[in-house]
Amino acid sequence: MKKTIDDLNLKGKKILVRVDFNVPIKNGIVQSDKRIKASLPTIKKIINDGGKVIIFSHLGRIINKEDKIKNNLKPISILLSKFLNKKVKFSNETRGNNLEKKINNMKNSDVLMIQNTRYEDLNNKAESENNLELGKYWASLGEIFINDAFGTAHRKHASNFGISSNIKISAIGYLIQNEIKMLNKVLNFPKKPFIAIIGGAKVSDKILVIQNLLKKVDKILIGGGMAYTFLKAQGYQIGNSLVEEDYIEIAKKFLIKSKDKIILPIDHAISNKFFNNKRKITKGIDIPKGYMGLDLGKKTIDLYQKILQEVKTIIWNGPMGVTEFNNFKEGTIFIAKSIVNQNNVFSIIGGGDSAAAAIELGFEDKFSHISTGGGASLQYIEGKILPGIEIIQNK
Ligand code: AMP
Repeated sequence: MKKTIDDLNLKGKKILVRVDFNVPIKNGIVQSDKRIKASLPTIKKIINDGGKVIIFSHLGRIINKEDKIKNNLKPISILLSKFLNKKVKFSNETRGNNLEKKINNMKNSDVLMIQNTRYEDLNNKAESENNLELGKYWASLGEIFINDAFGTAHRKHASNFGISSNIKISAIGYLIQNEIKMLNKVLNFPKKPFIAIIGGAKVSDKILVIQNLLKKVDKILIGGGMAYTFLKAQGYQIGNSLVEEDYIEIAKKFLIKSKDKIILPIDHAISNKFFNNKRKITKGIDIPKGYMGLDLGKKTIDLYQKILQEVKTIIWNGPMGVTEFNNFKEGTIFIAKSIVNQNNVFSIIGGGDSAAAAIELGFEDKFSHISTGGGASLQYIEGKILPGIEIIQNK
């Protein structure tokens, strides 16, 4: 068992907290504050206990100097101030005298946010490649490290793995604790019937997820671009739909081994190019030459909705179609609706595009849990160890 924030005495200590404030921003305005709000319980706990809160987060990718402007964390520190109803100081430096002075001047319960950890990536990718010296330096700024960045836990970066490796005391925060609890509930103790809904672009991204879930679920409903590799493996015509030829053999093996578990679309909304054209629905499973499948058809939606009526546990990852196009959102919307319209279902969305779709529909509170980490939750479902959590001290 990992140490948690509740196992520690925080009073008067300099607490380094890694959160994941990698939120979508457009023209300086935060588009979704879900991740920020999800970090508040941990930050508030440290404030209430009289610790000094020193916040680390990344935002976007920093490849050149221009990226620094659009991925500046300052606007997020202002938003955090609002949520906490308390001044959040900001350090534009990620290392050096000024930062150290700011930390040394902190009083109990003060909050200081440090500029985007990935600014350090301009320095030979020091953050993203877990530069040893950087991890050691950041660790030297505090006495305790709390990792609460689930969205980054599958990465071995200086600001999570590096700090943990070089500090005396480390623990996980409430957000990570909750994510693990929810995922374990589904993966280890699911009420049956247990159904997975897997969509998104590629089979290759989710092959291990499908493999691991096939051992646990009663059925997997497949949608999105990945459905076409499975359909081609069965010998159907898929026109110009997205396909991964290298994965057809694997798809065939899955279909042979788990024939009754894997459910594939039986009709499709198609278009003659990758564009928001008017929806055209196929009669059956085959897609005519010159067309590509961009969403589930009506018969498939009905079939999937029917299967979802008798379910007790659901895990969903990946949209059922190209939700970026308004005319090809329907499959994803109907799936989301049929999940939230049922009583007594434990439902988890594994972050990413399916989470964005559910939130856009106003269903944020209607799922049992929406993960704050797309990549991290996928790796967890694959059965992999997340290095950012693994490195935290045990109780
Ligand atoms: P993922 O990140 O793997 O969950 O995939 C999300 C992406 O899958 C989105 O950008 C969708 O546009 C894309 N996608 C979903 N359905 C299809 C499809 N039928 N053809 C091509 N791309 C798709």
